[in-house]
Parts: sequence; C-alpha cells; structure tokens
Amino acid sequence: MTAHILDGKALAAALRADLAQRAAKLPYRAGLAVVLVGEEAASAVYVRNKARAADAIGVTAWTIRLPAGTTEAALLAEIARLNGDPDVDGILVQLPLPPQIRPEAVIGAIDPTKDVDGFHPLNVGRLHSGAPGLVPCTPLGVMKLLAHAGTALRGARAVVLGRSAIVGKPVAELLLRADATVTLAHSRTRDLAAECRRAEVIIAAVGRAELVRGDWVANDAVVIDVGINRRADGSLVGDVAFDECVDHAGAITPVPGGVGPMTIACLLENTLAAAAARRDQKSIQRPLRSQSP
Ligand code: NAP
Repeated sequence: MTAHILDGKALAAALRADLAQRAAKLPYRAGLAVVLVGEEAASAVYVRNKARAADAIGVTAWTIRLPAGTTEAALLAEIARLNGDPDVDGILVQLPLPPQIRPEAVIGAIDPTKDVDGFHPLNVGRLHSGAPGLVPCTPLGVMKLLAHAGTALRGARAVVLGRSAIVGKPVAELLLRADATVTLAHSRTRDLAAECRRAEVIIAAVGRAELVRGDWVANDAVVIDVGINRRADGSLVGDVAFDECVDHAGAITPVPGGVGPMTIACLLENTLAAAAARRDQKSIQRPLRSQSP
C-alpha cells in the first residue's frame, strides 16, 4: 500500500490562514524583527522568506541587516534595543553568525519572551521541564505534521535521528511529552538501521542525503524527513530515500514540501503567541495597532 504523503505546503497554508485571522484579532499589529549579519546567500533567502510570510499574515516584519564585520558588542547593543522596543514581539537572529560573534552570547541576550526561535536557555529549560514556553519552530512543525497524519504517539516507539539543539533534541522532548517511547540516535549509534526498523515513527534530522533506506523502514511506519540536502545538480533531497519508502511506509513527508514550509508557519505562530502573551502583561503600554518601526 502506498504511504499517505504528508503535504507540508498545504498544511502550512492552512495554518497561515488561521494565523492571519488570529493576527487581525490582536488589538495591535504584531511585530517580528529579523536580524541578518553578513551577506550569506542562503541566509538572505531564509530571512526574506520569513519577512514575506510575516507580512502576508498581517505581522509587521523588520529586517535588520548588519555588515559581516559587525562586532559582538554591536550586535548585543542591537538586541538590547529590540528587547526594549514595545512594538517588537519577536526577535530572530539568523544563524550562522560570523566567527567573531558567539551565537550563545547572542541567543542568551534575547528577551526570552521575544525568543521566537525558542533557542534561549530559559526556553530550552522550560521545554525540558515540561513548562510552557516558546518551542523551536522546526520541531513544532514536525509535531503538527504527526498530528495531521493522525499518528497515535502514546506508547509508540519513536526514533529521532540527529541530536542537534535546534531539531533532534527538542523533537525528542516533544515526542516524550506526547508519551512516545523515544530513542535519540546520532553519528555514534551502533546500528542505526536496526533502531529504525523497530520504530513506528522515524524523524530524520541528520543532514545526510538519503541516509534512511527503504529496508530501514517498517511497514506502516510514519516517516518525517527534516533533512535538506543539495545535490550536485542543485535539486533538494531529504535524509530519507523517499522512493524506497513510499510503497510501504504508513505516511511520509516529501522534500521539498514537507517540514520546510511548516517551519516558517510555526515561526509566525510563535510570534503571535509571544505577542498575545505580551499583550496580557498589564505593564506593557503601547498605542493600539501601532505601525511604527
Ligand atoms: P546538525 O546540527 O548538523 O546535526 C546533525 C545531527 O545528525 C548530529 O546530531 C549528528 O550526530 C547526526 N548525524 C550526522 N551524520 C549522521 C549519521 N551518518 N548517522 C547518524 N547520525 C548522524 O544538523 P541540524 O541543524 O539538526 O539539521 C539536520 C538537517 O535538517 C539538515 O539537513 C538541515 O538542513 C535540516 N533542517 C531543516 C529544517 C527545515 O525547516 N526543514 C530546519 C532545520 C534543519 P553527532 O551529534 O554525533 O555529530
């Protein structure tokens, strides 16, 4: 039986439509500041896509472009300014940063209530301890895709391939929160294929083109492919050999068009969540539906 192909593009479009309605109900226009240091081409594209997506749902997006030679102190000063700006609900610093800037210093300087990437240590700790907080966007998107697929996670054996702080670890936390039995695998895992074969849910986030082969995937397993790898011809391919799995998996995400679109939609969801939470703080005084940068 052919797998149900999980259309992340369509799911993200539906989520964005819902978010546009939520944005319009806020008493003021929510604002997202995106900081780009340097001119790395891929980062510039990501930043442009995020800003456009925000605009399209009625969230004001400011892109702050700083030169590649920006010092850490100058970037921290910019973050402090954005932290103090009542029109800014969400702050995102596009990674990677130039070598003279320590990413942990920058992430740690962002007001945790505006940390829409969910990378601040306070939000990481909240996720770890099960407390409410801002959760990283790609893991959130993965969970929404699983929910959309109707995946029963309680008691299910789930394997997460990759243990990065931005994808693998937070995905594992969220699966655990959903009562899955989680295995977190990585480059030192002894027998990755065997770990996968046991799993009812596989989340691949390693950044190795088509690492997960068809015979690693059990019949009816749900496979979410986070990987984005560029082939020599410029086309994109995931961490999963899609063609080998699509015949017998229960559900599977394509690349592109699976997790990728969900990531940006979840960034917008986080921005509106941050805006709504800040609106509820009585200490915040600002004009209704402010348009100022
Ligand atoms: P990362 O920081 O490079 O982490 C990769 C992880 O995979 C590491 O934990 C590494 O293990 C593990 N790994 C590498 N090779 C492996 C192998 N052969 N077998 C088993 N594990 C292996 O990458 P990331 O930032 O998490 O991103 C992972 C992939 O997702 C990339 O392709 C990235 O482009 C993509 N991504 C997509 C989105 C999206 O929106 N769709 C968002 C973020 C990332 P060790 O820890 O042992 O080194």
